[in-house]
Amino acid sequence: MTHRSLMVILAHPDDESFPIGGTLAKYAASGAHLTLITATAGQHGVPAVAPAQAADIRYAELHAAAAALGIAEVRHLGYTDGALDQAPPDEVRRRLRALMVTHRPDAVITFGPDGISGHPDHLAIHRLATEAFDAANLPDARLYYIAPSEATRQGCGVVSPVTLASGPVAVIDIGPFRTTKVRAMQCHASQHPPVSGPPADEAPRLACHEYFTLARPSVAADAMACLFAPLNAAPLA
Ligand SMILES: [Zn+2]
Repeated sequence: MTHRSLMVILAHPDDESFPIGGTLAKYAASGAHLTLITATAGQHGVPAVAPAQAADIRYAELHAAAAALGIAEVRHLGYTDGALDQAPPDEVRRRLRALMVTHRPDAVITFGPDGISGHPDHLAIHRLATEAFDAANLPDARLYYIAPSEATRQGCGVVSPVTLASGPVAVIDIGPFRTTKVRAMQCHASQHPPVSGPPADEAPRLACHEYFTLARPSVAADAMACLFAPLNAAPLA
């Protein structure tokens, strides 16, 4: 099997684990090369802790979670938590595009236009990553958006106002990887993950599937059970 390359572009330490940790663990275990790009340090996400110290805590948690998930490479862009929409957009796009051009991922995952929780940083990275993807002009690469589902509700604690359904959807069965997902979630201790017990005990409580909508190429396609499935694959049973 040809090893695939997956690039994940998100806003905060923990965005990789809570909503989509099962998918990342699954593809890493299958031999895919995963690159995680985290735009901000999450330095305003630890109450009563100074930003510089909070950034250290959150980066340490991020690297622990990435190791648990099997992510090969973690890049921090170092922007300010809560202010990504005030970062110079040309610079962010240029950095993201350069990473795409050098890594040539088979697929890129980022937030969709709902940002799952609607957090302004999630909306900003959605926009910037999409624009960078289009500018990178990778002819065979796909762009996926994290779609709202039971998994994102559990992980992020909010119900997205956008419902599933429009456009092609990849439905990833993460059943065997839920224990790993719990371990990764628990690495983000400063964020009080919604799973506190032994990972093997918590895993059955997590949703079995994570959902992604296919944003590029812009084609009509049936639902897929794999991010790399041929487009227009047979509908899921
Ligand atoms: Zn976030």
